[in-house]
Amino acid sequence: MNRQAIDDLKQRIPLMGYLQAHDWQPARPLSRGRWMGLCPLHGDHQPSFLVDPNKDLFYCYGCGRGGDVIRFAELYHQVRFSQAVVLLRQWHGVEPALHEATRFYRTQLHRHSEAFTYLYQRGIRSPALLELMRIGYAPGGCLRGWLTQLGHPLPALRQVGLVTGAGYDAFVHRIVFPLEDNLYGRSISASAPPHRFLPGAKGGLYAWKQVQSHPEVILVEGLFDYAALWEAGFQNVTCSLGAHLNVRQFRQLCDGPRIVYLAFDADTNGSGRQAAQCLSRSLRERGITARLVSLPEGHDPNSFFVQGGDARQFQSLLEVAQ
Ligand SMILES: [Zn+2]
Repeated sequence: MNRQAIDDLKQRIPLMGYLQAHDWQPARPLSRGRWMGLCPLHGDHQPSFLVDPNKDLFYCYGCGRGGDVIRFAELYHQVRFSQAVVLLRQWHGVEPALHEATRFYRTQLHRHSEAFTYLYQRGIRSPALLELMRIGYAPGGCLRGWLTQLGHPLPALRQVGLVTGAGYDAFVHRIVFPLEDNLYGRSISASAPPHRFLPGAKGGLYAWKQVQSHPEVILVEGLFDYAALWEAGFQNVTCSLGAHLNVRQFRQLCDGPRIVYLAFDADTNGSGRQAAQCLSRSLRERGITARLVSLPEGHDPNSFFVQGGDARQFQSLLEVAQ
């Protein structure tokens, strides 16, 4: 990519818009249109992150890092320059379509009783949680028509992965959870593969910003585990979307002193337990206290609650976690 193309890309993605799309909030205005806010690159407790929207530059007085939108993407996603450019180009094309699809799926949720029945069986019942997690439903066979009617060109929808090469909706009969720059779809039918993401990275830890400042954090593998814990009153929970963390998720857990409770699946083949043990060793090497939560054999946090476990019982599991 030449200098000109890089400059064009930066022109098309204003730093402020990109920051805000990644949940950054300006906290305090400064002179000449500049803003201060919490730094998304380190565990910041008082605003030390300065953004100049006119120059499209940032600087953090806490961690000392600064630069343009590409530099931000490099640091935020922990990738090299060339990869940051690819991510930004993708995001530029992908973001509007993802946003629209999320909205569409959320309206569909209320029109399909099979989706509600499934959520109910998995212990997701409160409207507040549906709202918080922005849960939707992909019935299949109607997203493509809706998005093309709104002016999204078909090749772009294929590139994002919302529509298959053959032109069909990629998500069919799936409960949909929006992630940072992706969607996760859980099939409600037993005949399809249960888990699906759109192409691209799964992103950082789920809702990390909400739990980052808690001294104790519960980490689970799946979003249904997250939901069950949240419904039971545990709000210091986050999710790695699988038993293996990516580099960014691992660094997030290590970005400050905290106790991490690993509540992974106690599946009979032991893979969840193995992954948790391995992760706890890596965390301890970085000075983070890690405790393994032992669920009853064959359970994950979701099934624990769905099959009658309550908050008090889970709390006792936390207390004896080692
Ligand atoms: Zn910083």
